[in-house]
Amino acid sequence: MDTILELADEYFFDGVYAKLVPKQVPLANATTNFLGEQLATTSAWERDSDLRICLSLSVFLIVGATLFYFASATFSYFVFFDKEYMKHPRFLKNQVRLEIESATKAIPGFALLTVPWFWGEIKGYSLLYEGTPATLLEWAYLALTVPLFLLFTDCGIYWVHRYLHHPLLYKHLHKPHHKWLIPTPYSAYAFHPLDGYFQSIPYHLFVYIVPMHKWLYMSMFMFVNIWTILIHDGNFISRSTIINTSAHHAVHHLYFNYNYGQYFTFWDRFGESHRAPTEEQYDAELRINKKTWAQQAKEAEEIEGKVLKTSKQKVN
Ligand SMILES: [Zn+2]
Ligand SMILES: [Zn+2]
Repeated sequence: MDTILELADEYFFDGVYAKLVPKQVPLANATTNFLGEQLATTSAWERDSDLRICLSLSVFLIVGATLFYFASATFSYFVFFDKEYMKHPRFLKNQVRLEIESATKAIPGFALLTVPWFWGEIKGYSLLYEGTPATLLEWAYLALTVPLFLLFTDCGIYWVHRYLHHPLLYKHLHKPHHKWLIPTPYSAYAFHPLDGYFQSIPYHLFVYIVPMHKWLYMSMFMFVNIWTILIHDGNFISRSTIINTSAHHAVHHLYFNYNYGQYFTFWDRFGESHRAPTEEQYDAELRINKKTWAQQAKEAEEIEGKVLKTSKQKVN
């Protein structure tokens, strides 16, 4: 994030802060911007000021996350999502619009909550490192951090997600994401900001306890965000029993208490919450069959009723 913020400073924030909080400098000390213009006015807020870093990060993360959401969800919606699903009895009226509204409301809060993690990275409190590995061992370590990152975050997200289904938390934090029994890619960020934040903690935390190359981390960070969109795309090509595919996550949205995992099915198997997708999700005809849908809706309603009943009992 430090290099990205440097670029954002160079091309955008330096000029903005110089206007907002200006400081005159003698022409002899004037800096030159990327267009080769001499700047006799700079900002009273230095680039390494904590307040400036946090403000810049807030703007960058809110704008970046919103653009990423619209670009990736729209791509996935038009390329992968099976629009036949919109005829499912549990697909809500105007659902896509509702999902987009929910996500655009959640993204600013969700992005702001992550600012301290990125601030810490820029200030050098994380274990991110840079430079090209010099030895075979360093390359091997670099490669090893990829499965380590996936295993650590998969475990973390599983347990955070599972506890978000606890009756005391579910109603307040996680229920907004389960409004979508038949999700579209736009539902990926349609959640309560704290729900999204809690599920993101494992991948922020990882680089504070395990050294990781900063560009590899940025790539993995993008990967988890793309993965989150992909498991909501309703495109059930992969029949993997090891990977938590979009078919597994569709089961989670329909039947609540199964498949809390993110990338793999291991923790669900271990925690006895695994439910394998059935033929009806893979078969081109069965998956859009009205009888199948009616059955799914019936079972979903039964489970939903039980979940809400337990939730009421625990709260009272
Ligand atoms: Zn859930
Ligand atoms: Zn989901």
